[in-house]
Amino acid sequence: MSSSAGSVVNGGVSFWYADDGLPAVRQPLAGDTAADVVIVGGGYTGLWTAYYLKKAAPFLRITVLEQKFCGYGASGRNGGWLYNGIAGRDRYAKLHGHEAAVRLQRAMNDTVDEVVRVLAEEGVEADVHQGGVLEVARTPAQLARLKAFHRAELAFGEKDRELYDAGQTAERIKVADAVGSTWTPHGARVHPVKLVKGLAAAVEALGVTVHELTPVTEIRPQHAVTPYGTVRAPYILRCTEGFTAGLKGHKRTWLPMNSSMIATEPLTDAQWESVGWDGRETLGDMAHAYMYAQRTADGRIALGGRGVPYRFGSRTDNDGRTQETTIEALREILVGFFPSLAGVRVEHAWSGVLGVPRDWCATVTLDRSTGLGWAGGYVGSGVATANLAGRTLCDLVRLDSGQGGRTELTELPWVGHKVRKWEPEPLRWLGVQGMYATYRTADRRETATHSAESSRLARWADRVAGRH
Ligand SMILES: Cc1cc2nc3c(=O)[nH]c(=O)nc-3n(C[C@H](O)[C@H](O)[C@H](O)COP(=O)(O)OP(=O)(O)OC[C@H]3O[C@@H](n4cnc5c(N)ncnc54)[C@H](O)[C@@H]3O)c2cc1C
Repeated sequence: MSSSAGSVVNGGVSFWYADDGLPAVRQPLAGDTAADVVIVGGGYTGLWTAYYLKKAAPFLRITVLEQKFCGYGASGRNGGWLYNGIAGRDRYAKLHGHEAAVRLQRAMNDTVDEVVRVLAEEGVEADVHQGGVLEVARTPAQLARLKAFHRAELAFGEKDRELYDAGQTAERIKVADAVGSTWTPHGARVHPVKLVKGLAAAVEALGVTVHELTPVTEIRPQHAVTPYGTVRAPYILRCTEGFTAGLKGHKRTWLPMNSSMIATEPLTDAQWESVGWDGRETLGDMAHAYMYAQRTADGRIALGGRGVPYRFGSRTDNDGRTQETTIEALREILVGFFPSLAGVRVEHAWSGVLGVPRDWCATVTLDRSTGLGWAGGYVGSGVATANLAGRTLCDLVRLDSGQGGRTELTELPWVGHKVRKWEPEPLRWLGVQGMYATYRTADRRETATHSAESSRLARWADRVAGRH
């Protein structure tokens, strides 16, 4: 690669904001007030919840309280995979039966179409391209996992998923050493920031009150407390995902896991010729420390993976600044996938946090005795899941307030799921560092040995982490 890490724009929240511009910030809260529903956090979860609630019940007074600006968190920093994966489905199958998990998966498949539908209806231009999701294997062990994954997805009702051999994969995209891939149509590439900005504008246009620069310091029944006043409401919905540890009493609720990304300069036509990727599928792999990427609307590659996975004491980063070693590691992944791009400049690097529950299962809950609700713990699959969560929180509030009955969504197996908290420090930090160091070693061993068996190390790390 030609560029030194020093010439890369580092942080600035994300490349997507450099591309589309930071938003003008809305007015903070100006004193004590009241509402029917308070939503804490202006990411996809909070905004979708506000959107569906206001659409269903225009008379509701809904207030969104956001600490910085809508889309400041993962919703303005992600890889733009709008796809049907949901964290915890396999565990939900064990807890509630296969049929319940199939319903959850079907709901996720529909969610991708629902987001695309609403964006079109609201006139939100978010560079949507429905090319599906392509996941490639580059070692025999990855291929074995890919085939097992493919079989599992079919069993969960994804009848339209396809399995490709090395030749068929190369017809779609020229990833070095690719030995196979699996493709699902249930995915689209999006521009994360155009999506979140458009959604925030749509929510405001419906009549929802949005206060920015307003951090909530404490949530308790019927109260959202901020430095500028308290908003009282029968329902307070916590939609703070990776930032949840910053709220009083929630230090160990969800672990803030980092994910980091780079974006290249726009590629030339000749470079695209060497890569293929005409279908603009979102692209991932089957490594234990996996990567994810998209071909952006303006012809770049945006690629992400795990850098420093977790900061001691559940701290979150500062506007997305990313360690040089992480930028270098992501650059190596890019060139490993596409050796012909060795001279391409990386223009931007950034990071964000996502929320990881102790059992790695996403949840959506309304505690009917307190009126407190929450959704999240999406573990990195939240772009579509947040929409399902928003629709579900809407239905749960309407059910509780007597405005609606039970719906298909209120009966899904992730609703009301409870999980224990993370261990106190230093165990939390040691555990996560150990897990990712083990994944990396396992990936290296699988590449070196060419064994078709997944490394035992990775399976052990999964068990210790509580993932399986
Ligand atoms: C680098 C990266 C890449 C990712 N790539 C993908 C991907 O390609 N596909 C996918 O499906 N998922 C991806 N994810 C995950 C996905 O982006 C998230 O799951 C999703 O955006 C979560 O939305 P959210 O609204 O729940 O949380 P967020 O977007 O994090 O929103 C939470 C909001 O709450 C605000 N907030 C926090 N605390 C307070 C407080 N105390 N008071 C007021 N406001 C507060 C924050 O400022 C923030 O705006 C990625 C995540 C990261 C970090």
